[in-house]
Amino acid sequence: MVSIDVFSCYAMAGAGAAVGLGLMGLIRTDQPRIREALRLYQGAFLCLLALLALPFSSGDWRDPLSKVAIGVVAMGVCMLAWAFRQLNGRRTHPGIGATVTLTVGATLWLAGFLGSEPLFLFAIAFVFAFVSTGLFVDQGWLILRSAHVTRSELSLLAVAGVFALIWLITLWHNATVAGPYPDHWLHAPAWLLPFSGLAFALLPLSVAAVVFAIVNDRLNQQLRARALSDDLTGALSRRGLRELGERMLAMQAHKANQVAVLMLDVDHFKAINDRYGHLVGDDVLRHLTRVVREHLRDDALLARYGGEEFTVLLPIRGKGEARVVAERLRQQVARTPCPTRDGPVSITVSIGGSFHGGGTSLEHDLSRADACLYQAKQAGRNRVVFSDAPSAGEAHEGSRQA
Ligand code: GH3
Ligand code: MG
Ligand code: MG
Repeated sequence: MVSIDVFSCYAMAGAGAAVGLGLMGLIRTDQPRIREALRLYQGAFLCLLALLALPFSSGDWRDPLSKVAIGVVAMGVCMLAWAFRQLNGRRTHPGIGATVTLTVGATLWLAGFLGSEPLFLFAIAFVFAFVSTGLFVDQGWLILRSAHVTRSELSLLAVAGVFALIWLITLWHNATVAGPYPDHWLHAPAWLLPFSGLAFALLPLSVAAVVFAIVNDRLNQQLRARALSDDLTGALSRRGLRELGERMLAMQAHKANQVAVLMLDVDHFKAINDRYGHLVGDDVLRHLTRVVREHLRDDALLARYGGEEFTVLLPIRGKGEARVVAERLRQQVARTPCPTRDGPVSITVSIGGSFHGGGTSLEHDLSRADACLYQAKQAGRNRVVFSDAPSAGEAHEGSRQA
């Protein structure tokens, strides 16, 4: 059996914590949630630096310095769990986080300085098993419930899972096997020591690498979301429409659903700008986006095509459904004036619609919807025109067909 000197493993782990601390300082982000998580990781790695005290103390866990250091290391692991919660969008109240962290440290110090040898070793195994299993279950619950699980998140679960498993075996050993106790503080089965030694040695570095990967994923997602959305209204940008629209068309074709393509244009918007100014005009565009979004199902895409022109991609089961939705949008916009500093401003929209199908491209669908929009404008505005005739009973007041 390979024999690994446990104290060298602690030294390596301490060095890994120093590297982790440095790496956390290198990440730059304008996201408050991630920044706060990074501060917690830095706090955690600072605590894990206490691992360096173990080999440099008298080499015995009975040494008071070792006892203090073990409590600090346990607090570090606790802070890691806190930081991962923060990173994954679950904010822990700082008071609660600090109380749990201090309680974990204080439990070990009390057991170390006031309790017997077996009690102290049991307390160590219990605290580390409790915190690491808690971290594993908490993160597993958060991560596996999300719609899209990334490889970096799975790596986190693997690292946390290995660590929790080692501590659960150690806890079981402490509960069932009496002394003799080792010089170092891990009263664990002999066969586990090479694995746990390696796991401790690599833990801080692995955690730092996983945090780096997760933060990198998050920042990439945010950049992507920004690139695909429109600054003023928060609707998809034209580029977002192209990317997500093509994906939606492929997905709906797979489900044998149809997709309706609507083009909405604000009527006489230039007059609103001229009368109230551009800032009010901007408010009107944001308001319109909200009203339209509220009256669409979650599976529809809304994009700002340009200026005061918007596009909706609508998965539908029948063409009549698209006409109903388009007409409802037209009526809701007309019924809901935009509150502005100069009082409510009423607006109307004209809507042109086409249907995707038969291998047409999104560009082609958009240009057909645009042609219908032109006809709606020509016919007097504030109306809906579709590119094909409705079936019996689908005609609605205010709607025309091309
Ligand atoms: P129609 O009913 O024929 O659509 O008339 P319209 O006045 O709405 O159309 P037109 O194309 O003549 O004018 C569109 C105006 O939209 C002109 C432009 O200044 C304004 N516009 C485009 N983008 C923005 C924006 O981001 N903010 C504001 N406030 N105005 C914008
Ligand atoms: Mg217009
Ligand atoms: Mg226009």
